Formats: sequence, C-alpha cells, structure tokens
Amino acid sequence: MHYSSLVDVYEALEATSKRLEKTHVLAEFLKQVPEPELERVILLLQGRPFPPWDRRTLGFSSKLAVKAVAVASGESEKKVTESWKHEGDLGKVAVTLVGKKKQATLVSQDLTVKEVFDTLQKLPAMEGLGSTDRKVKTIAALLGHATGNAALYLLRTVLETLRVGVAEGTLRDAITWAYLQPQINYNMEKNDIEFHEDSDREAYNKLTQAVQKAYDRCNDFSHVAATAKQGGTAALSKISLELGTPIRVMLSQREPTVEAGMQRVGTPAALEFKYDGFRMQVHKDKDTVTIYTRRLENVTTQFPDVVDAVKAHVNAKTALLDCEAVGYDKKTGKYTPFQHISQRIRRKYDIDKLKEQLPIELNVFDILYLDGKELLDLSFHERRKLLEKTVKNVPKAIVYSSYIATDSIPDGERFNAKSLGAGNEGIMCKALDGVYKPGSRVATWVKVKPVLDTMDLVVVAAEWGEGKRSGWLTSFTVACKGDEGDYVTIGKVGTGLKELEQDEGVTFNQVTELLKPHIVQEKGRDVVVKPDLVFELAFEEIQQSPSYESGYALRFPRVLRVRDDRDPEEITTLEEVRVAFEHQRGR
Ligand code: AMP
Repeated sequence: MHYSSLVDVYEALEATSKRLEKTHVLAEFLKQVPEPELERVILLLQGRPFPPWDRRTLGFSSKLAVKAVAVASGESEKKVTESWKHEGDLGKVAVTLVGKKKQATLVSQDLTVKEVFDTLQKLPAMEGLGSTDRKVKTIAALLGHATGNAALYLLRTVLETLRVGVAEGTLRDAITWAYLQPQINYNMEKNDIEFHEDSDREAYNKLTQAVQKAYDRCNDFSHVAATAKQGGTAALSKISLELGTPIRVMLSQREPTVEAGMQRVGTPAALEFKYDGFRMQVHKDKDTVTIYTRRLENVTTQFPDVVDAVKAHVNAKTALLDCEAVGYDKKTGKYTPFQHISQRIRRKYDIDKLKEQLPIELNVFDILYLDGKELLDLSFHERRKLLEKTVKNVPKAIVYSSYIATDSIPDGERFNAKSLGAGNEGIMCKALDGVYKPGSRVATWVKVKPVLDTMDLVVVAAEWGEGKRSGWLTSFTVACKGDEGDYVTIGKVGTGLKELEQDEGVTFNQVTELLKPHIVQEKGRDVVVKPDLVFELAFEEIQQSPSYESGYALRFPRVLRVRDDRDPEEITTLEEVRVAFEHQRGR
C-alpha cells in the first residue's frame, strides 16, 4: 500500500471536525486496507509506530528534523531554519523544499506504508556513536521519496506531533462500522446515524462495547482491528489482560464536599484515603515484577524496594495491582508530599542510596488480575475483598489503602479529617458496585477536593524571554483537555518559576530544557510545542474569557510544580473547569 493513500486519509480527517464524518472516512478506508497492512495503518493513523502501552519514543528533535530536511532538499540548514521561522511549520517547509528538488531530479518512487512504518520503528534503537547522523540520513531518505503532502505528515509523525483527530472513540466506532456489520445508516447530510429499529441501536451499542472492551484489555487498536476483521465479536471477546502489558489507569471525577462525593457514587459508599504520591501499576508474574507509571512508563529498575515488597508480601502467583506509592519521613514516619519523591521516577543511578533517603510505602487500592483471572468486571466491593486476601499489610513497605464503607455523612467527614491529619490529600469515594474501566474518568470514582484550587495543564506554546532572560522560555500558554479529547488553551503563565538554580523550585532554565525537544514551530519569539509538559498551577479565580479556546481564563496563575508523572491525556478537563466555575459563582 502506498503511503500516499494514508496521506489522503489524513487530509480527509483534517478537513472535518465532525466526529461522525471522521468515523465514516476511517471506516470506508479500513474496509479497503489489506490484512497485512492493517496493524501498521492503525498505528500510523494514531501517529506512532507503537501501541500506546509501548512508551518508546522516536527521539527525533526538531533540530534533527531541520537537518533531515536540509539533506533531503539539498538546501543549507540555515536556509531551512529561516524558511521554518518564516513559514511557521517545518512540515510545510519540507513539502516545498523537497518538492523543488524533486522537480529538478525527477525521482518518482512512491513511498509505501511498510517502508515508513519499518523505518520509524527502527529509530528508537539507533543509539550510540554516530546514531544522530544515521537517524538524520534515514529520515532524509524517506523525505526524499515523499510525494505531494507526504513530507508534511511524515515529518509530523517523526516529531510525534501528528494530530489529525483520531480520538479513541472515533477509532473504536470506525472499527465497528468497518468490520462488525452494524445495522446503521450514516446520514452524511444530517451528520447523524439512523437506526431502523430500536433493537438495532442496542445491538450497535453492544458491538461498540465489544470493541471497547477488547481495547481496554490489550491497549492496542491495531490488535483489536485485526482481531475484529478476522473473527468478529467472538474473537474480540477472547482478548484479555496480559501481564507485562500495561493497561490505562482509571481516573476519577471531582466533587467539592464529602457529602456530594458520597451522593455521586451512591450510598453506602466506599471511602478511601487519597494518598499524595504517584500512581503505580504493578504486574506480578511469578518471580517477575514490573512497575509502570500512570504514563505507562516502565520504572521497574528505579524501584527495587517495591519489587522486593511485592515479591515478599503479595500472596499470589500472578496479580495486577493498582497503587499509589507514597513517600514517608524516616524519622517521623509521616507521609511526605509527592514532590519529595518525584526524583525517584527519573533517577537512573545511585538507586540504592536514593531508596534509603527517600523511602516509599506502596498503598494498594485495587486488584485487576489474580492468579490467571481477570477482575475488571467484578464489582469494586468484590475486588476489595480479594485485595485484602492477597496483600499482606506490612506498614512502610506495602499496605492496602485505608478504607471504610458507610452511608453516614458524618462518618465520611470524620474519615476525611483523619486522612487529612495523616498528611493525605483527602478521600476518594468509590461506588461499591463499580467495575474497573481503564482509561476512563468515571463517575464511580470521585475525589473530594474543596475547590478546584489547582489545575494540571499542558504547555502548548511559549515565548522566548528578553534581556537577562533571553535564552529561556519565560511565558507559557497552557491548555486543558477539551470535550473532544483535544487541547484547548486557558491562559498564559510565567509566574512561579525561578531564575536561579539555588532558589527552591523549578527554574526557567530547567523548563526551557524540558520543552526544547518538543518545539515544533518557531516564529520570532513565539514557539509552539508538542503537548507533553504538564504544570500544576495555582490561581485565584476562573474567569470567562473570549481570549482562549476554552472560553475561560485564570486570574493570577502561578506554576506550583512540573508534574512529570502526568500524561497530557490526563490533565484537568474543560468539564471540570466548567463545574469549578459554576461552583465558584455559587459561593
Ligand atoms: P488526581 O490526580 O487529583 O486526579 O487524583 C487521582 C489520583 O489520586 C490517582 O491517579 C492516584 O494516583 C491518586 N490516588 C491516591 N489515593 C488513591 C486511592 N485510594 N484510589 C485511587 N486513586 C488514588
């Protein structure tokens, strides 16, 4: 299959913002894709040559991309950079400059999907001496064969910034339309789907759920699509969790009070301490323990203490545990806030020393797999019983989360006070009958936080400073997660970061270094960055504002910290902002 066929689909997807139309475009295309190409195509549609659980990155910065465009077009790097600054989008520069050279040389060998895919997959493994050069040459060779707009999408894919709007729900539905023969009629004019009978609607929902369920378990649409095409729903239902393959974590909604939280999940409600650490997904497969962060990065080597605790105190041959790792002070025994232990996630050396200095306790709050059985569809209550049977409570090593089940609001309030007194963030309210839905922000888990006083927002653009701050990015445009899973801007922030390394907190320099590899557009002092870096911000108030895409702005925003354990997918949502805005008005 030619890469240009995929480029046509990228363009068609970009041309519409309507979800159903995107679904239709995708479904019609998927019907044409031959079997051996299917997995590659699905992954490339999502913008990466790996499934979401595989966190390998291509490691191709915009600086390398400039070099690759220079090599492919025969222009100097200086010329490419200038055109980039002028044009704003390096991909478009590639199309123009490489296109020009092509006309001169008349090379016309069209790229194939397989070529692009295989080449991209090889990039992460190119390491060591001379690897930068090899990477540049490899991508330049691809660009050299790109026709039409292919260079644009190729470059965006290499920079991991391809966003053509293939949201998870759209892909799920497209797979259903393409391979499971639902009885529906897509009316393009009305932008609606029509059903002949009510039972068709139900049947359709069942089909999309079957696809979703399979995806929740294997975390890879390329596998789901191939399975659906080959064996339909019967084959999909056989897809199950696999130890060693991380699943997406379940997320919570928010309510301002204990009472509202309990009512939201239904009483009697399960209440748990909400620990201020970081999420850990722990897979135990006999003697092999693997630990993933909330971003599904494998951090097993950084946490030998957790590996030992799980091996010693988890009474199961195989298990998958959802946990929060919390730091504690060795002298006082009290929990410490997240930022104390955050360096344990990144640090690759002196691990034994660090584990002594910054000890952690693993608080297990859910169990999703036990001795060969998947538990996702069991109720929370049943999972909790299995959890208590499986994990042995050994304080300062591994414990199951503190928990009560009650329908009394005063009891809930007391439990919340107790949690706050122990140095936690408050409580989580959970529905006793709730199932585990990977990757969803569900209404069966609700965190109690008095007001939305902080937000996790992703940096999408920035500005170079001037004068003594030149060389640093000093002003940052931040975005929350919009209703379509896109990022919508909500403000600019420059306060809260420090100038000097010796000051406590994050410095401009550190943030600049973190953002530099993600720069995708540069024009004058303005840069656009790939959404990757998450800031936790404090602010005085939420205001309505036409200046930002979200329709809101923050008064006096201030950066509290960099949340490098957070995936941009999981930041504060526009819906949460709306709720907080209404709540604030009601005060
Ligand atoms: P937030 O990050 O404020 O959206 O809150 C959700 C996070 O709280 C989860 O991702 C976990 O890392 C953390 N957490 C702490 N304690 C619990 C608990 N008992 N149940 C679920 N999540 C918890």
